[in-house]
Amino acid sequence: MDDFRRKIENIVRQVVTETLASGQPPDLRSSGDYSVRRMMLAANWKMNGSVDFVRNYAMDLTVVGHDVEVVLCPPAVLLPVLAQSLAVGQQVELGVQDLHYESDGAYTGEHSASMLRDAGAIYAIVGHSERRSMFGESDDVVRKKLMAAIVNDLRPILCVGESDEERASGSTFRVLRAQLTAALGELASPLPDPGNVVVAYEPLWAIGTGQTATAQQAQEAMSFIRDRIGEMFSWSFAQAVRILYGGSANPDNAFELASMEDVDGFLVGGAGLDPKKFMSMIDSVSHAAKEGVVRAG
Ligand code: PEP
Repeated sequence: MDDFRRKIENIVRQVVTETLASGQPPDLRSSGDYSVRRMMLAANWKMNGSVDFVRNYAMDLTVVGHDVEVVLCPPAVLLPVLAQSLAVGQQVELGVQDLHYESDGAYTGEHSASMLRDAGAIYAIVGHSERRSMFGESDDVVRKKLMAAIVNDLRPILCVGESDEERASGSTFRVLRAQLTAALGELASPLPDPGNVVVAYEPLWAIGTGQTATAQQAQEAMSFIRDRIGEMFSWSFAQAVRILYGGSANPDNAFELASMEDVDGFLVGGAGLDPKKFMSMIDSVSHAAKEGVVRAG
């Protein structure tokens, strides 16, 4: 009930704010319709794969005529061979798992956004929890990477999520708010096309653990994320941003999770390395989008 009340209060606040700013009310019929958001499935291969793996994966994958946007994020060095191996007509976009925020210079081992774009990437994962925890990426670095991606026409997939302890101590919303504010706080007008900004809710306790968030836990956090984006920018902007769930998503739980109102698809690790599982998840996401099951809340 609290969640419902917060949602209604947010909508009212957003409508009033946008009406005062523009002199007319936002078009709630189109902007509030979840179906304007195209469902998405992105695979983060992490540091896995080889030239042979890529060729076999591309041979086994069939993504044709789907209403779901499909993105593969291999290690950057494998991007060109993946691009060459995908058969003509496969509806797959390429992405990377990280980028450096500078455009060039003495940054040994790093890749700039424009280099990654040149290599075929359309999307860039930013602020993955493994980068934050293992490579010491601060909120400030995540913000710079996100801005570098946008400026260079790479679509960011911004990862946010709370740890086990943070959830247990009731700090989930505080953590999500802080991460979103830090990463998106510099976006200013002209705002990017909201269809090109993706947020992945990835609770740390669910990543690679086999312990998935329940559909209700995912929906609650993801609805909070959308509301927060609405507060920062506008109701209509937030309605068009896609929010993915990540954390042990697999063919068995994809349909239920994807049926939730604010779940617009998945960022997957393990299941994304197996083309059969990945294709099965594409089918589940597509099915959930068509049925629009719990999407009305
Ligand atoms: C991830 O690392 O982004 C992820 C979601 O991994 P997994 O699906 O393996 O939990």
